[in-house]
Amino acid sequence: MPYYSKPLNNLINELVKLPGIGPKTAQRLAFFILERSNENVTNLARALVKAKSEIHFCRDCFNFANDELCPICQDQKRDHTVICVVEDAKDIVAIEKTHQYHGLYHVLQGTLSPIDGIGPEQLKIAQLLKRVKSGTVKEVVLATNPNVTGEQTAMYIAKLLRGLNIKLSRIASGIPVGGELEYADELTLGRALDGRTEI
Ligand SMILES: [Zn+2]
Repeated sequence: MPYYSKPLNNLINELVKLPGIGPKTAQRLAFFILERSNENVTNLARALVKAKSEIHFCRDCFNFANDELCPICQDQKRDHTVICVVEDAKDIVAIEKTHQYHGLYHVLQGTLSPIDGIGPEQLKIAQLLKRVKSGTVKEVVLATNPNVTGEQTAMYIAKLLRGLNIKLSRIASGIPVGGELEYADELTLGRALDGRTEI
């Protein structure tokens, strides 16, 4: 059975747990790591541990942060009256790349999915409601993915926010139905933001 020494096998087993990494890629990465200098590998290992131990969630928007607030929430040049609601911190990166949005964000950390046991309590929905009710927010843009759970989540939040005297919009077409923000090109996503419609 084992072609590899035990530590190499362990390394491959850890790498294969990463998203998009199959056994062959894991093997290639493991060999690549072994061929690098001690210093290179130590830097990689330190960066992993340091990122995990020092990065937590922003107090306000639940983006990743290494201070109490993330860089976006700290930025006074941004429009603090608009909040764009996204499923995942990765979606912030996608929207930032369009350079068309200058407000704040709110990361839900998932979507409503009753069959997976994910209800409103598992997401950062109550925290969003609290932010909106705090008084400075004038507009909320719902930018969950245009697939079934993303759509359901947007509708659920829209219901909660309606009547709070804020402008409420949903990102427009351009993102293919069933698609994900993370994979949309910048132009398409920019147009979708531009053409958001009030709901
Ligand atoms: Zn933040």
